[in-house]
Amino acid sequence: MSPTRSSRTIGALLALHAGDALGAPLEFKPHTLILSRFPGPNAAFPRTLTGGGFLAWEPGAATDDTDLTRAIVLAYRDAITKKDDVVLKAAEHCLAWYQGRWPSRQPGTLPRDIGGATRKALSKYASSRDPYSSGAGQGSAGNGSLMRCIATGLFQTDPELLRKESQYISSITHNDYRCTIACAAYNTIVSSLVVHEMSVEEAVSAGERVAISLDRGRVDGPVHAAIKLGRTISLGELADKGPRKTGFPGPCSGFVLDSLSLAIAAVMDERRLDQVLVDVVRVGMDTDTNAAIAGGLLGARDGEEALLDEWKDSLQFSSEFRSLVEEVLSAQGVITTDQNTK
Ligand SMILES: [Mg+2]
Repeated sequence: MSPTRSSRTIGALLALHAGDALGAPLEFKPHTLILSRFPGPNAAFPRTLTGGGFLAWEPGAATDDTDLTRAIVLAYRDAITKKDDVVLKAAEHCLAWYQGRWPSRQPGTLPRDIGGATRKALSKYASSRDPYSSGAGQGSAGNGSLMRCIATGLFQTDPELLRKESQYISSITHNDYRCTIACAAYNTIVSSLVVHEMSVEEAVSAGERVAISLDRGRVDGPVHAAIKLGRTISLGELADKGPRKTGFPGPCSGFVLDSLSLAIAAVMDERRLDQVLVDVVRVGMDTDTNAAIAGGLLGARDGEEALLDEWKDSLQFSSEFRSLVEEVLSAQGVITTDQNTK
């Protein structure tokens, strides 16, 4: 049976969270080092969320990827239940995270991890309070907005507004056109899977059409090229042999289009969700963010039933994400109170 919209929505958020937690202990470790620490095939790679890494994460902890995803989910909750402006709320919740008004942090303490463009943009936003001029500028094409954009795909069901809000919310920190178009294409894929119940092939094609149209009809634009490349990548082979040092996809160490290609390869990979996610981590380098971005698409594809129970039990925001999804989908009339209690 095909997963319900509610299951796919929760699954997308929890698989993003799980990818983040699975990759965090190995963040910025190259492929060769991961292979020497965990030799053998995919099946031999441990699934337990151990925490650790150079930032000493607790098991199942949210790093910046999941934290900022939560910020945008909260913005949609506010927009849908209180009619707040979603872009402004997204910026305000990101700022709250930056300034230490956040669960499990001492008030006023900085996040343990923060990307360069995100830091620059949120400090600019703290004084201007203008989410439309805070972005780090053209040339800052990291994956820091793609990693946190998924709530738009899950909760904005109007395709035109989905494209606009994806771009505006990316621009709060990442206004480079490759980042804004990547977020709109990614969220189109998410919405196609979760809301419109399309096949993976149809969903990825819908994402390609958005990438082309937002790049003024260019079929050879960089975001469309990244999606097309993702279609050709064998993730299992990439995880066994390691990423290319030059060319495209590059080292998978934070460039938005490398992460997008990996996520496309992941969602088109027909193996079980945990097997695919493990291979994204085995590729190496920006392991937590690459696996968070890929995880979002995989959860949208397979629903929460596909997640390992031990992951669902140990993720920091597992129950909060579940209740936020119920609150938003109830407000949208997608689920009734009766279903909430199941
Ligand atoms: Mg992270």
